[in-house]
Amino acid sequence: MDQHLTLALAGNPNCGKTTMYNALTGARQRVGNYPGVTVEHREGDAHHNGRDLTIVDLPGTYSLTAYTPEELVARDYIVERRPQAVVNILDATSLERNLYLSLQFMELGVPVVLALNMMDAVRKQGKEIDTPLLSKLLGVPVVETVARIGGGKRELLDAAIAYTAEKTGDWKPLTISYGPDLDPVLQEMVAVIEKTGFLAERAPSRWVAIKFLENDEQLVKLGLQSDAETSATLSGMTAAVGRHCRSTLKISPESLIADYRYGYIASLMKEGVVRVIRPQARLQFSDQLDRLLTQQFLGPAIMIGILYAIFFVTFHLGAIPMGWVENFFAWFSDVVSATLPDGLVKSMLVDGIVGGVGGVLGFVPLIMVMFMMISFLEDSGYMARMAYMMDRVMRAFGLHGSSVMPLIVSGGIAGGCAVPGIMATRTLRSPKEKLATVLTAPFMSCGAKVPVIILISAAFFDNAASVMFWTVLGGWIAALLVAKLLRSTIIRGASTPFVMELPPYRMPTLKGLLIHTWERSWSYVRKAGTVILGISILIWAMMTFPGLSVDDMAAFDAQRTTAEATLSGAELTTHLVTIDNQASQEALRHSLAGKIGIAMESVTKYAGFDWRTNIALVGGFAAKEVIVSTLGTAYSLGEVDAEAAEGLSIRLAADPSWNRATAVALLVFVMLYAPCLVTVVVIARETSWKWATFSVIFNTGFAFTLSVIAFNLTRALIGL
Ligand code: GDP
Ligand code: MG
Repeated sequence: MDQHLTLALAGNPNCGKTTMYNALTGARQRVGNYPGVTVEHREGDAHHNGRDLTIVDLPGTYSLTAYTPEELVARDYIVERRPQAVVNILDATSLERNLYLSLQFMELGVPVVLALNMMDAVRKQGKEIDTPLLSKLLGVPVVETVARIGGGKRELLDAAIAYTAEKTGDWKPLTISYGPDLDPVLQEMVAVIEKTGFLAERAPSRWVAIKFLENDEQLVKLGLQSDAETSATLSGMTAAVGRHCRSTLKISPESLIADYRYGYIASLMKEGVVRVIRPQARLQFSDQLDRLLTQQFLGPAIMIGILYAIFFVTFHLGAIPMGWVENFFAWFSDVVSATLPDGLVKSMLVDGIVGGVGGVLGFVPLIMVMFMMISFLEDSGYMARMAYMMDRVMRAFGLHGSSVMPLIVSGGIAGGCAVPGIMATRTLRSPKEKLATVLTAPFMSCGAKVPVIILISAAFFDNAASVMFWTVLGGWIAALLVAKLLRSTIIRGASTPFVMELPPYRMPTLKGLLIHTWERSWSYVRKAGTVILGISILIWAMMTFPGLSVDDMAAFDAQRTTAEATLSGAELTTHLVTIDNQASQEALRHSLAGKIGIAMESVTKYAGFDWRTNIALVGGFAAKEVIVSTLGTAYSLGEVDAEAAEGLSIRLAADPSWNRATAVALLVFVMLYAPCLVTVVVIARETSWKWATFSVIFNTGFAFTLSVIAFNLTRALIGL
């Protein structure tokens, strides 16, 4: 066993580092300069419990970014010389500011022991620090010291020695979320770094990526020397996200990173690390606002109120531009109908493309209104508070505080996507909590489910906002219950502590809001114009071919001839339309998709789904938007002379096979059944194909069971 340990003392200037160093080493000191710079290098020996120790007094620094020679020296020492542990001395009278450096050690991954120094002064201020709690939250040893009288120095060395024995030199970096603007870029950068092994000998990949975002000159220069190509790629990504941050948030990535680090620390403090015995503090604006907005009972009530208000405004304000878009497609479809001759091309354009893609695009205005409000929550910093408040709930159901963001990204407030949501679970360190989060993220109301929810709520309920509110909440309830079920059966295991980043509140800029709204809406529109367009045409074809048999065609023709011979005037016109409708219904039934849908009816009838709904639900496995587009095609194929201006929701409401019970059952099923294809692939990539398959089978079974219950319950309630 290696008897000799090197411990590096680090900390902000004036935290008492040198005082502690003297207390530890006594007279056994060596003083010199670091090569090339005038920064003093001090090294001394100590003995503790039979161990020989070398104690290094690093220069005082506020950060580990190469802004000053001191910072560079301290960092290079740690990265290159790799001491067995860093003893981070903190001035505990300004704990928040001092923890900023500690976080950076933890992000770097070096084993670190915290010495909360100047505890005598802290007590004099009438404060108490819950060191066991701080230690638990950060996952590193924390010792209270009073360097001036040598207080706590034995405990400090005990803790450091025990910790190095446990850590045996391997670095475990802490991952902090830097919010929706930087996290995705960081992930991409990490992927690039890991692929090329860029600067791998120096530091963990995420740390290297963060340093690039912070424009760390020294590291960028080193990178350029070791691998110019990767370095250029990373610099390009940094420049792009820098422009994005500056135009949307009006701040640089460096400041954003600092904000999130301070936010992380602020949330530690909120856990009650520092207890004020004699209060004196004047609260700052953010803290004052947080007092109200994250208050134990009022906070969640306000959160639910805000959620409801979002849906209310979405429906009432969004309905106006939505009418314009619907009118446009109706007009467009009229023009196409009038100019093109009857036939397959016209049917594909009117029923397949306008009915399908148009149906999906019709929701764009509504979705934009909603995205705008959600962007406001996110940019203002309130979204982080929502996550903070949800933490307690998460834990009760076997999830982790860090599960909240992935769930919100997946559509927790309506309108996200499970794909980035599931990728965001990478910040979860416990594999079991990560798995539970990955498996429940698809229950959220993602952007593709939103049009289905809007369609059904608007068609069958007077208070659509309220239905949407309960649907979204229902997704959460299902996610939590399933998480609890999984965590108490097949993925059992202890929960890990959590710290949430709470960035300061800031007033969102209009430009930032517009850009974020546009980014979200555009990806929806683009998907409608590409993937959904392709699937719509495919499904239209499946709903059109093989078409009526020659015999059937003849039979309908015979009916028409008879009608023309016996009837006249308006009566004849009405009758002919009825025959045409029957003919196209019959053709749809005979189509490939129709046959599949009808075959499924023997099972799905228990949930009230007819064959056309079945086709839509099967198509929805490819992408959930397809549910709306397929219903659009099915109901426009089925009704030859359907008033073009009639929206799909009016058609559904008027259809005899639909009622409120079917509507409720469909909402339940759509919220919970198998994740879409892309999500399944991502689940497989983040976990394994075993779990991806599990999610398809389990979710569909779970969804079907619940929708059968919902169908029958609603039927009983409304007396059908
Ligand atoms: P460094 O610049 O980080 O090396 O800090 P120093 O060791 O020079 O200490 C800065 C000041 O804090 C000195 O005046 C010390 O006497 C004082 N100091 C150090 N430790 C303590 C402590 O535990 N309690 C109090 N009250 N003062 C301390
Ligand atoms: Mg000093």
